[in-house]
Formats: sequence, C-alpha cells, structure tokens
Amino acid sequence: MKVLVAVKRVVDYNVKVRVKADNSGVDLANVKMAMNPFCEIAVEEAVRLKEKGIASEIVVVSIGPATAQEQLRTALALGADRAVLVESNDELGSLAVAKLLKAVVDKEQPQLVILGKQAIDTDNNQTGQMLGALTGFAQGTFASKVEVADGNATVTREIDGGLQTVALNLPAIVTTDLRLNEPRYASLPNIMKAKKKPLETVTPDALGVSTASTVKMLKVEAPAARSAGIKVKSVAELVEKLKNEAKVI
Ligand code: AMP
Repeated sequence: MKVLVAVKRVVDYNVKVRVKADNSGVDLANVKMAMNPFCEIAVEEAVRLKEKGIASEIVVVSIGPATAQEQLRTALALGADRAVLVESNDELGSLAVAKLLKAVVDKEQPQLVILGKQAIDTDNNQTGQMLGALTGFAQGTFASKVEVADGNATVTREIDGGLQTVALNLPAIVTTDLRLNEPRYASLPNIMKAKKKPLETVTPDALGVSTASTVKMLKVEAPAARSAGIKVKSVAELVEKLKNEAKVI
C-alpha cells in the first residue's frame, strides 16, 4: 500500500511571530522554519504503518518555495522513501493547495493520504477536507488512532467530549490530531541517508492546476496587549470589582 503524506513548511512553533508594521502579514525575515507539528505526526504514522508491513512506500509532498526541500529532507530522514516538491512562491489558499494535492494523488494513486489536521501558521483546518471533496475519498479527520486492514481504515476521531470511531473504505484521507502518536527524532545516519533519497520538483503549471485565489487576506493584527493585573485585599473586594468594574458577574 502506498501512503502519501502532505507536509507544510511553517514558522517553528517556538518562534514568537511578529506582525509586519503595515499589517500585511507576519515577518518571516530570518525566522526559523520547520515542519508543521501535525505533519510530523502524519509522517510518523506513515512510518509506523511501514514498520508494521502495512505500507510499502511512503511519498511525502510539500507545496511551497524551494526552501521547503528542507522539510521534505527531514521527512525522508524520518523514514519516507521519496519526496515531491510542488514549487510555488505564491501565497496559496487552501483550495489551491487541495487542487495541487489532488493532482499529485491522481499521479501517485496512493491508498492512504495523511495530512495534519491544521497548519499552525494559518490555522485553516480545511485542506484535508477539501481534498476529500475533490477526490471523493472517505475521510477520517482529527484522528487519534488509525488501524488499516483488509482494504479498510478504522479511524478513532477526537470529537467534543469524546471519541468517534469510523470505518473508511480505501483509498482514504486521514488528518492527524495531537494524540495520534509521538513523532521520533531523525538519527544522524538517517539524515545522511536522506540526502540520497529521490526528491522530484514539479510546478503547478506542469500539474495543470490554476492556483488563482478566491480569498484575499486583508490584514493581520497581533493580539491586544494585556493590561497589568491588580491585587485585591479580600474576596468581597474581588466580587465587587468583578460586578461593577469588569461587569462579568
Ligand atoms: P490547513 O488546512 O492549512 O490548516 O492544513 C492542514 C494540513 O494540510 C497540513 O497539516 C498539511 O498536511 C496540509 N497542507 C496545507 N498546506 C500545505 C502545503 N503548502 N504543502 C503541503 N501540505 C499542506
């Protein structure tokens, strides 16, 4: 079974992002970039399926600038076999990304596609679902457990206040939640080996996909700075302030 994993290059989660002075976006100059954490979980799940003898090949795909090769090489070091970079320097919306992934799915014919549930930069949480609509594949989103056997994937989904288990006919799409697994670190020998693994670069044009956006980002703002707290002398004073000043009770 071939597994396709989508990995996105994003600002490292440890970085405190700065909004540009003109509110046109986030300042990415000299900022540390990394693989989206939910995509790391997606790669790990694919590698575990291969270790169990269920997956035979893992192909990782990223859509973004040439520098996204770094994240693809990381995925190769973690155990993926082959990588595809769909190179574009444009700010692509989720629908454009999903259309490009659909073109890669058509070419690669995977039985399982694993994506993160969300990219931590734009927080869209919709690419997997859009890919589901475009391909017509069954989808199990927010997965905290995945089992594959006999042409089916059984996916346990994290839903509000509980868990839901669904059975999906393959080919299927899974998006990963935080508790699915704990990703491993790449060992030095595997990082070296990954340099020799195949990495193919294609363009949206070569895939025949128009990436024109239907959404325009108008502005980005930093959260309002929190005002300093105060100390109260008694519970009575706290209740009085909550009632009359904050007006929350
Ligand atoms: P989003 O819907 O943008 O929150 O992203 C959800 C998931 O879709 C990510 O965790 C990735 O697996 C995939 N994805 C989104 N954008 C890209 C991209 N540019 N390249 C590869 N995968 C992506």
